[in-house]
Amino acid sequence: MFYATYADTRGNAYVDEHHAAVGRVGDLFIELAPEQMIPLPAGASLVLMPERRAVGLTPNGAFAPLANGRYALAALLPQGYTRIALPAYTGSGVTLPLFGYTAVAWHDDQFYVAAKIEDKNLHKWDPVYFNTPELQQLVAKRRAEMPNNRILAQLAYCALEYGCFTAQNIFYRRYEGGIPVSNACNAACVGCISEQAADCCPSPQGRIRYQPSVEEIVELALPHLQQAEEAIVSFGQGCEGEPMLRADLIAPAIRALRQQTGRGLINANTNAGYTAGIKQVVEAGIDALRVSLNSCIPANYQAYYRASTYTLADVARSIRIAKAGGVRVALNLLAFPGVTDREDELEALISFIKDNGVDMVQVRNLNIDPDRYMALMCHSQGELYGMEQLADILRSEVPGLVVGSFS
Ligand code: SF4
Repeated sequence: MFYATYADTRGNAYVDEHHAAVGRVGDLFIELAPEQMIPLPAGASLVLMPERRAVGLTPNGAFAPLANGRYALAALLPQGYTRIALPAYTGSGVTLPLFGYTAVAWHDDQFYVAAKIEDKNLHKWDPVYFNTPELQQLVAKRRAEMPNNRILAQLAYCALEYGCFTAQNIFYRRYEGGIPVSNACNAACVGCISEQAADCCPSPQGRIRYQPSVEEIVELALPHLQQAEEAIVSFGQGCEGEPMLRADLIAPAIRALRQQTGRGLINANTNAGYTAGIKQVVEAGIDALRVSLNSCIPANYQAYYRASTYTLADVARSIRIAKAGGVRVALNLLAFPGVTDREDELEALISFIKDNGVDMVQVRNLNIDPDRYMALMCHSQGELYGMEQLADILRSEVPGLVVGSFS
């Protein structure tokens, strides 16, 4: 039996042994099935959803709010896990901050979550390898090596204040390191992680305010490419806007880097809406693009991205230009149970992948207030297949497609 759980206003978590565990997909409550559940993974955290009353399944099979004062408990999953169901609750309140709320249950004397492991390469992003005791010292050492580099100054703040993994990798000099360069964006995502309207919720990071130089980019990226294990440098970080708006910096930086080393990968996380910028970095020799999108149905895409100067068709064109230039393209799929796994969405996604030659889909749990998102996503119909089916469906519909969580 998977029991319902809840939290009190002081943030204590409880089990309710009179109700079975319930989750939510889109706007629908579902009874959570054992095959949808895994033990709460290491590195996950539990949070209280204020003003949202928890819902459970009664012995006679009815979905019912738990007693007064019993609020929804949610889990926030580490990278590499795909959320299968949201917490079930009634009521609403202030807009919730940008987190990937996941349903929680109690079973066998431990917490379980409605999720699955999407990518076995968890080790590189395991929280145990980050925020280690020597990090502060490494930051000071790197900063002394490049005292005037404003990007490194930003990354020092991101590494120590936000705990950002790609910022920390620059100091650990390993794997994927972030290079934030753009303080502007051509979209205004409802769940933007670097800039939020005052009436919403705090953005997890502040957006950079400086305009770096090509020299600063090269100074920072070159040693990472030359020395880091499995080196990747990535433009387009959580603390910046759209990197392709700074293709005028990134393209010459790529050329300068490739004149000095052929080692490692140069990647950009982008909304790919600014096709002229994509063209510039492809011609300069970028190796990979990770293109973020929440839906391949234009109206659902626009409802979330609120793009000001481009459309989803421009994103598709950008991807085709990148593919023609030999660039590896992954989609950073902002996934939400009850939307991403809906028939219309899946059909549109599969066509988009096939028509544009996408190589990989990286599944990301969309961090957003569930009710706020569902109020926007009203342009898709059809059967729900379940997030646990997503990867298999995509792989069977698009032979050779890689589905996972990491580059
Ligand atoms: S594309 Fe990125 S930076 Fe731009 S609004 Fe969306 S989340 Fe924010």
